[in-house]
Amino acid sequence: MSIRLRLTLWYSGLLAVAIVVFGVLIYTVVYRTTMAEVQKQLQQISSSTEVYPTRFNLAIGKLSSSFDPNTIYIQLVSYTQNQNGQIRQMTQNMFRSDNREELTFPFPPYQNVQTRFVERKINGLSYLIYETPIVVKETGVLVGLLQVGAFTGREEALFQQLRTILWLAGLVSLSAAFALGMFLSRKALRPINKVMEAAEQIQSGSELGLRIPRDKPNDEIGRLTDTLNGMLSRIESAYKHLEETNAAQRRFVSDASHELRTPLTTIRGNIDLLQKMLAAGDEADPAGPSGLSEAARKQITQEAIADIADEARRMSSLVNNLLSLARADAGYQVEMEKLPLLQLVEEAARRASFLPRKAAWNVGPLDVLEGVWVCGNRDYLLQLLFILIENGFKYTPDGEVRLFAVRKGDRVGLVVADTGIGIDEQDLPHIFDRFYRADPSRGVTSGTGLGLSIAKWIAEMHRGTLEVQSRPGQGSAFALWLPVAA
Ligand code: ADP
Repeated sequence: MSIRLRLTLWYSGLLAVAIVVFGVLIYTVVYRTTMAEVQKQLQQISSSTEVYPTRFNLAIGKLSSSFDPNTIYIQLVSYTQNQNGQIRQMTQNMFRSDNREELTFPFPPYQNVQTRFVERKINGLSYLIYETPIVVKETGVLVGLLQVGAFTGREEALFQQLRTILWLAGLVSLSAAFALGMFLSRKALRPINKVMEAAEQIQSGSELGLRIPRDKPNDEIGRLTDTLNGMLSRIESAYKHLEETNAAQRRFVSDASHELRTPLTTIRGNIDLLQKMLAAGDEADPAGPSGLSEAARKQITQEAIADIADEARRMSSLVNNLLSLARADAGYQVEMEKLPLLQLVEEAARRASFLPRKAAWNVGPLDVLEGVWVCGNRDYLLQLLFILIENGFKYTPDGEVRLFAVRKGDRVGLVVADTGIGIDEQDLPHIFDRFYRADPSRGVTSGTGLGLSIAKWIAEMHRGTLEVQSRPGQGSAFALWLPVAA
């Protein structure tokens, strides 16, 4: 059942109950007041009608002055204790002059006589009768019954009419209310329908950028529209993010396999060369079919093995880097502890001095690190500093590479600055991307383009940031900012 129909039914049901209660109330009030008038008149006539109880008989003495023979009928019934009563006397108007039967009121048996009002239908006409027992004052013996009746046909007709009017009015207003309710609920629910249609359109299409038009003021529907639109925006951005992540993942896999293939090709080439040379060396000819002397063969063998060793090293570092990034993607969290930063930086500086380099290696000032502790993982922080220092050495053919520390509020910065080749402005936003290498480095310096993306991941894992400033031809400065542990 639709909401529209349910709403209308509820509301019509409530209205029906209200109409019924109201109708019953009106009817009761009108009935009571009208009948109360008649009852009062009957009681009054009854009390002022004189009845004479004699020893064997009863007689109406004086009739009440308000007795109206057109509407009021009086009947006197006498009882003896072993007999069920008989009509003693009636007023003249109970004997019909026309051909119709004469009017007699039915009366109760002796033991049921009491003061009361009774409604009777006699010859199809309605009467209200007031009955008063007649008792001999001295003995208290019941001897008769005085019945004063009024024709209530007109009142009955009035009540009948009232009932019909109430029923009709009730039914008409209920049907009108139902129709109006259907109309109003359709009008009220139309904006919801519009929202539904728009939502269905968005759901069935592939366009996530669509939004539900919002033409309502700030009512419930307007707010619903806003909520749905907000939800759609979130879904859209989540979807975009997912697509970007997927694309990045695909790029990563293809770049990684490409990078792995290069050293493998070199290794296979060298192995092929060695195999061929060994096969040719098996022949008896001392100079060999290749015409190479023993010394030349030895040199070629040594070079091939050196190549293979180099490529294997490169591959192993590449695989290590890939592993680090795979961990980063999997949301890997390293164990953290409180570390004295000065010691850690001094250790990195000491180890860096053994790295092959052309530039001068300078350390300091580091005094801001006195007594500074950070929350972090020693190995990973050392790895990060090494990536920055190695890059400094790689991209600084002459000049110097310096490591120093600065402090800003509750953050401490470790800066690796060099006077090397610098980075072009258009390359700067990309150097933290995986496999990205700026043009001057390609084919000139060895590298995979993964170092800085690993460094960035480590910095973020430590709730730190990695910033870079660089000028082509003048040098670069990489700063790692870490929050100081309390
Ligand atoms: P790799 O050094 O293996 O190429 P990185 O991710 O460490 O990869 O660096 C990405 C690129 O950023 C490098 O290829 C290089 O072009 C540039 N870069 C990084 N550090 C420096 C630096 N100190 N000076 C100049 N260029 C740099």
